[in-house]
Amino acid sequence: MIPGLEKAEFARYGRMHRNTYIASPSLLGPDYRLLKHPGVYFAGQITGVEGYVESAASGLVAGVSMACRVLGEEPPVFGADTALGALGHYVSGYAGSDFQPMNISFGIIKPPEIPIKSKRARHALIAERALSAVESIGDRLGIAGHETGTEERHV
Ligand SMILES: Cc1cc2nc3c(=O)[nH]c(=O)nc-3n(C[C@H](O)[C@H](O)[C@H](O)COP(=O)(O)OP(=O)(O)OC[C@H]3O[C@@H](n4cnc5c(N)ncnc54)[C@H](O)[C@@H]3O)c2cc1C
Repeated sequence: MIPGLEKAEFARYGRMHRNTYIASPSLLGPDYRLLKHPGVYFAGQITGVEGYVESAASGLVAGVSMACRVLGEEPPVFGADTALGALGHYVSGYAGSDFQPMNISFGIIKPPEIPIKSKRARHALIAERALSAVESIGDRLGIAGHETGTEERHV
């Protein structure tokens, strides 16, 4: 389909990319701090998160946590019921021996206490619960909320 490459032959299929990442489950806390050296934080795909948004999200959690500690304040806890927190809990808490980089998905966010069959309703509840948790953290940190349509808001 690419002009000039009509007669190209595939010698071998390649891989789009490869990630290099640390063994976060044995090294990091959910705030991306090194367990053995709590003054050192990691962020980005080196922690085992995958993707642009996820890498930025891990940097946000690590940065907020570190800034609070530097200022002598208690850092907020991003729980596994939020997308921001779920990524940190995944990379720091994975229990198997085959730890692999992970994108954010509803699958790694803590499910509702009461099982909900409808996927749409379940996801809506998870999103609302996460938004409320993140907005509380924002209030505590003095970061003004930003109202948009639910479907546009990220958690
Ligand atoms: C081909 C390709 C396609 C992708 N497509 C997508 C996509 O469609 N969607 C998506 O969400 N994600 C995609 N990704 C993944 C995404 O790019 C990464 O997850 C994300 O950029 C990681 O961000 P990061 O800041 O953690 O690391 P990086 O963006 O890799 O940034 C690390 C930086 O550190 C610098 N650095 C390294 N070593 C040193 C050193 N010793 N001193 C100083 N600086 C150093 C590097 O030069 C680099 O600038 C893709 C990745 C690749 C390779």
